[in-house]
Amino acid sequence: QPSGSSKAPKPSFSKQDLQHYEESDFSWSKEVQAKLSSVFQLSKFRPLQQAAINLSMSGKDLFLVMPTGRGKSLCYQLPALCSKGFTLVISPLVSLMEDQLMSLKSKNVSAVTLNASSSKEDSKRVLAGMIDKNSPFKLLYVTPEKIAKSKLLMSKLEKAYNMGLLARIAVDEVHCCSQWGHDFRPDYKLLGILKRQFPNVPLVGLTATATSNVLKDCQKILCVQDPITLTAPFNRPNLYYEVRFKDNTDCTDQIAALIRGRYKNQSGIVYVFSQKDAEVVATDLQKRDILAQPYHANMEPSDKSLVHQRWSSKKIQVVVATVAFGMGIDKADVRFVIHHTISKSIENYYQESGRAGRDDAPADCIVFYGFMDIFRISTMVVMDNTGQQKLHNMIAYCQNVDRCRRAMMAIHFDEVWNDEECNQMCDVCRHGNDYITMDITQHARDVVEVVEMAGSMDEKLTPLKVCETWMGKGPAKRRKMIKVTSLSRLEVESIIIHLLLHGYFSEDFSFTPYTTHFYLKLGRKASLLKNDGHSITMKMKRVVSHDTVKKVSKSAGEKSSAKVEGKRPADSDYKKSVAKKVKTLP
Ligand code: ADP
Ligand code: MG
Ligand code: ZN
Repeated sequence: QPSGSSKAPKPSFSKQDLQHYEESDFSWSKEVQAKLSSVFQLSKFRPLQQAAINLSMSGKDLFLVMPTGRGKSLCYQLPALCSKGFTLVISPLVSLMEDQLMSLKSKNVSAVTLNASSSKEDSKRVLAGMIDKNSPFKLLYVTPEKIAKSKLLMSKLEKAYNMGLLARIAVDEVHCCSQWGHDFRPDYKLLGILKRQFPNVPLVGLTATATSNVLKDCQKILCVQDPITLTAPFNRPNLYYEVRFKDNTDCTDQIAALIRGRYKNQSGIVYVFSQKDAEVVATDLQKRDILAQPYHANMEPSDKSLVHQRWSSKKIQVVVATVAFGMGIDKADVRFVIHHTISKSIENYYQESGRAGRDDAPADCIVFYGFMDIFRISTMVVMDNTGQQKLHNMIAYCQNVDRCRRAMMAIHFDEVWNDEECNQMCDVCRHGNDYITMDITQHARDVVEVVEMAGSMDEKLTPLKVCETWMGKGPAKRRKMIKVTSLSRLEVESIIIHLLLHGYFSEDFSFTPYTTHFYLKLGRKASLLKNDGHSITMKMKRVVSHDTVKKVSKSAGEKSSAKVEGKRPADSDYKKSVAKKVKTLP
């Protein structure tokens, strides 16, 4: 029992309460367990599933927050099969409903839908089934629009309720209720009618992404009195997170080496920035004898599903995909997700990389972080009010050299993270202390001056131009006017990005009819550099030249069977030899 000294209000649902619901000695437990294996063909529950099911079976109202792909559906589908009557499921998209219906059909679970595209006969059958004591279906999927617009549906629900046949209400993607959430749907706002009309029917709201504020809002909108909220930790302990610098060479060679070496015969995804990249990278990998195919939004639906199928059945090893490859991917044994280009936000990265290792076996998530990619993405998200901030967070994740990668993610899920729980399953925790702290104040002054000088000549500089000018690659007359740096290209890039993230530079977009240009301009903090006392420090990864890394990794054995870097037998030697060759920074 916790001591009463803490000032925080007592949570209405404590750890002890949760433990009680993790048990399997409820009156329904035997049936639940039996159907888990006979119907769903699953051997055991994942974290929180059992508790969620027991709570819902006990008649409690519940909000369940769990990352995508962890198995939220089971938490209402299984109770539906173990209850009298049917469960009403509200789902925002017809396509999502169809996926679910298909998967349920393959398990011989009777489930139906009512939506705008249902035929008259189908609707009639469904509406009649709702008030049939023999319940010809256990789950009824509807869109929120249907609830809002169809009096006929509401009248049948009421009748079913009075007959004791409305077992449960599940609101999928429940964050859509709230305007504070990220994809607000007006019709979700009207769903409060359900709990007002059917107060005795337990409701479960499900979402992958909701902060506590959003949930509070949803609770109010849905008119749920006192729901219990279960939040699955965002952490995926079996995923190894790693960031690699993309230097000026293309990273396709490195990616190919990984796929043919460490991931031989294992399935994975390579995420790329654009449709064109998907085609190009897929071709490049094919040239290196890798069974890879592209996937992007501009392909014929039949081609898309063909690629998906081939990959699912291991006829091809890799899908080279844009973010269009996402919804409906249900492959459990994905061993690697490699990002050829960074994602546009940490949330996106978490989702995309999270498609690895759904079978709970170890899997790798590697992102290749390149300077020029930043600006491609930046111009792509230019219309989004929070686009730049989200991108900055993603960049900060990649620039980070001293904090657990999971800690960087936790911030975005309102979670407190204890680095030890990482178990060395990220590159920073595993190779810790491989960085130096550098005073970059003078460098910052110099490069800010480069941009200032261009401005005074009415000229705008792209980030690439800033790099080149600062490194002395511009016209001679300009070289004379600035202080050319002796830093390496990677250092120059890192410093420019650091200054952008910290407000010394900022984005300066310019639109032409064909494209959006990205220039650097002085940020709100640039003037601080004029103060003598102002200083900027930056943590930087030790810079190892590409050659060194290659040589070392060959001798230490890319062929080694160990799954992840740190388990290399020669790891300490590796570190030493790298350390010897690092360039000492000024
Ligand atoms: P979510 O709605 O949380 O994104 P889904 O309910 O669609 O996730 O489930 C994703 C996948 O996880 C499904 O293929 C499902 O079969 C699988 N799954 C669910 N529960 C378990 C479990 N206990 N063990 C193994 N796989 C599971
Ligand atoms: Mg879902
Ligand atoms: Zn870590």
